[in-house]
Amino acid sequence: MPTEPSSPRSDQPTDQPAPQPAARPARRDLLRTGLATGATTLGLAAPTGQATAAPTAAPGATPADRTLTLTGHLPTGAPDFLHLPVEVPEGVREIAVSYGYDRPPVPAGTPGNSCDIGIFDERGTDLGGPGFRGWSGGFRTEFSLSRGAATPGYLPGPINPGTWHVVLGPYQIAPQGLEYHVEVTLRFGAPGPQFTPHYPAERARGRGRAWYRGDCHLHTVHSDGRRRPEEVAAGARAAGLDFIVSTDHNTSSSHAAWGPLAGPDLLILPGEEITTRNGHWLALGLKPGQFVDWRYRSRDEEYPRFARQVHRSGGLVVPAHPYCPYVACQWKFGYEQADAVEVWNGPWTYDDESAVDTWDGRLAVALREGRSWLPALGNSDAHSEPQVIGSPHTVVLAEDLTRDAILDGLRTGRSWLAESSAVTLDLTVTGHGRRAGIGEELTVPADAPLDVRLTVSGVPGGTVRLLTDEGQMHQESLPADGSGTVIWRTTASLAAYVRAEVRHPKADGTPGRGNSMGPDLPWGPMAALTNPIVLRTGDR
Ligand SMILES: [Zn+2]
Ligand SMILES: [Zn+2]
Repeated sequence: MPTEPSSPRSDQPTDQPAPQPAARPARRDLLRTGLATGATTLGLAAPTGQATAAPTAAPGATPADRTLTLTGHLPTGAPDFLHLPVEVPEGVREIAVSYGYDRPPVPAGTPGNSCDIGIFDERGTDLGGPGFRGWSGGFRTEFSLSRGAATPGYLPGPINPGTWHVVLGPYQIAPQGLEYHVEVTLRFGAPGPQFTPHYPAERARGRGRAWYRGDCHLHTVHSDGRRRPEEVAAGARAAGLDFIVSTDHNTSSSHAAWGPLAGPDLLILPGEEITTRNGHWLALGLKPGQFVDWRYRSRDEEYPRFARQVHRSGGLVVPAHPYCPYVACQWKFGYEQADAVEVWNGPWTYDDESAVDTWDGRLAVALREGRSWLPALGNSDAHSEPQVIGSPHTVVLAEDLTRDAILDGLRTGRSWLAESSAVTLDLTVTGHGRRAGIGEELTVPADAPLDVRLTVSGVPGGTVRLLTDEGQMHQESLPADGSGTVIWRTTASLAAYVRAEVRHPKADGTPGRGNSMGPDLPWGPMAALTNPIVLRTGDR
C-alpha cells in the first residue's frame, strides 16, 4: 500500500524548532564563494544564502570544504517545486545536502508541513531534460553524491562545474507556512573511481508458454522503502514469484543494483512509480537507467508526452491505486494513455472496490467502441515490514519469462490477480466447439450455449462470483478446503464478457450479500480476480 505522505516518521523529530532566518550575506561573500542564492519560482519564496568563510587555499592544495545555508519561508499557495541554484566550482569531489523544516501544530484533518527534496546537475532543471540526479521525496533528511557513489535515490556520476539546483517539493504546507533550511556542502578533491551499474538481464530461464507470477509495484531504500534490493529479491523468491518490477518513486537509481540479484529463477524489470500531485502511475519495463519526470499536474497537459516516452521504450503505463485517499494520490489523468490499471493495491481496502467498479464499468464501453479494454493488475506496493511482497500479485500467461513476453501478456490482459501463490485459478468459456481463456475472445452464434468453468484452490470457505456486463450472475461457496469447480451457463447474446472474483468470507463469517443493497461492504476481501473473457456474436 502507498506510504501516507503526511505521516510523521518515527525516526524524524516532529517538534524541531523553526530555523532562524540566516543573516543576508554581503554580495561580495557570495561572489567569492561562488554560491548563488535566490529562487526561480514566482517570487513566493524568499530564500537567503549564507556561506561559511572560505579560507584561502595555497596554490595547488585541495580547497577546504564549503558549506552554504539556504533558508526561506513558503506560504500556503507556494508552487509545487522550488529550484534553488547552487554554483559548483571546478574541483568538487562530492556534494552533500541536508535539510529540515518546521512542523507547527495544525488542526485535525488539516495537512501539516511536508517537503520533498532532490537535485539536478549543471545540465539544468527542464522538465524531461537530462539534468536529473536524484530524488528522495520526504524520506531522507540528507544525501550526497559523487562520481563513484551516491545515497540511494541519487545517481553517481560526474560532479561537473556549473549551476546545480537543489529542488524542494513542498508537498503540504500548514496554514502557518513552512520554514525550510538547506545546507549544501561542497567537498573538494580527486573525483574517485567511476561508478559501474549492474543492470538486470532481460530474460530468465522460464518454462516456455506458461503462467508466471509477478509483483509489478515494489519499493526499496532507493525511495521510501526500508528494504534493500537484496531483501526485495529474497522476498519475491519467498513469495513464489517469477518476476518483479522495481518501481521506486521518481528515480531510476535502483536499476543499477538489480543485476546480481536477478537470476535464472527471477526476472527483474526496471521501472518507476511516477508520483505526481494528481496521482501515481507505474512505468513498467523501462530501459535500464531510464528516468521519467514527475513534475506536472493533470492540468499541465505534460503527462501524455511522458506516457509516450514510456511507450517508445516498449514499457507499460499503469495508473496506480486510483482511489487511494492520501493527499495527491487519486488518479486525475484519465485512462487514454494507460495500458492497464492497478485495481488491487496491497491489502484489500474499500478504495480497491472503487477501482474494480470503475474498471468493470469501462469494459463494456471499450467493447462497444471497438477499443482495446484495459487489463487489471494487482500489486503489493510493499515498502517495508510487515507489508508482504507479492500480496497481491498478477499471474500472466506469457510465451516465456522475458521482458517482452511478460509485458506483452500484461498488455493483452491474459492475466489474473492473486492474493498469494497459495491461490490457483483457471477460467474458461467453451461452446460451439470453441474455447477461450482469460483475456481471450470467443466468437460464437448468439444463442449457442456457453459453459463458463472456474476451477480454484487455496481460498477456504471462499465465495465465487461470476460477473458479466449485467453484474453478478452467479454466486457459489467453496468448501472448507478452499478448492472447487463452478460451472455456469450463458450465451454471447446475454453477456458481452464474463469475469470471476473469489472473495473471502466477510468478518461475520457470511459469504457476501449477493445483489442486495445495504450500508456495509457487501463482500469480504478479494482472494482472486480475473480479467474478462470477451464474448462476441458471429455466425461462423
Ligand atoms: Zn503510489
Ligand atoms: Zn508505490
